[in-house]
Amino acid sequence: MNQTEILRQKIKEMGASKVGFGLLEDVLPNDLKHLKTGISIAIRLSDEIISHIKDEPTHTYFHHYRTANAFIDQLTLRISMELQSLGYLAMAIPASQSVNIDGKEYRGIFQHRTAATRAGIGWIGKNGCLVTEEFGPRVRLGTVLTNMELDYDDTIIKSKCGACTKCIKACPALALRGALWHPNIERKELIDVRACSTHMHNHYQHIGRGVVCGVCIKVCEKGTNILKR
Ligand code: SF4
Ligand code: SF4
Repeated sequence: MNQTEILRQKIKEMGASKVGFGLLEDVLPNDLKHLKTGISIAIRLSDEIISHIKDEPTHTYFHHYRTANAFIDQLTLRISMELQSLGYLAMAIPASQSVNIDGKEYRGIFQHRTAATRAGIGWIGKNGCLVTEEFGPRVRLGTVLTNMELDYDDTIIKSKCGACTKCIKACPALALRGALWHPNIERKELIDVRACSTHMHNHYQHIGRGVVCGVCIKVCEKGTNILKR
């Protein structure tokens, strides 16, 4: 096994469901460009917990979401410490953190979805979520940036949503615009982020303080493929 595959194996043993490596140099902000490699991990969510979501989130889903994020932060911290002990620079992107850098809108310092498509983990669905072949959108993502050079996985450049419109029809906020993702599409062409977050804020305060929904993840059939096997 070469160095890339040894690292992939090690990260899977730490608990990642999927691991990929992507070159991110051209999409990173200037102050992070020296960390050109993105290590993308996906953690599979519980099908049982997601199956309980009907037309709104559940308390259990909210807890599961937060537990998965905490696990991802632990995992990406361990990966970055391991890389640092080998002599490389490494930085874990927080699993779920929004910062207001430009004074306009809150967003993560780097998008996990971008790293994941670059690293071959999946495509971005019409629901605006990363969708994997194995688990559909029933995953949470983590990213480690490093200056370690690895054998990069094939970037995903094509959506496999096809003509499906399940998530669009199910969204109670009418926030999904129905566009088919491609790498150069702007996020606002896929989803009205404000409509989504306003709906969650106004309707789900009693379940998860208005920050989770999960309906467009639950209805995606790509996420149930594995259950049919
Ligand atoms: S999270 Fe809920 S409100 Fe937001 S796009 Fe998905 S289904 Fe719509
Ligand atoms: S429900 Fe259909 S359109 Fe929406 S993300 Fe899943 S496959 Fe794509």
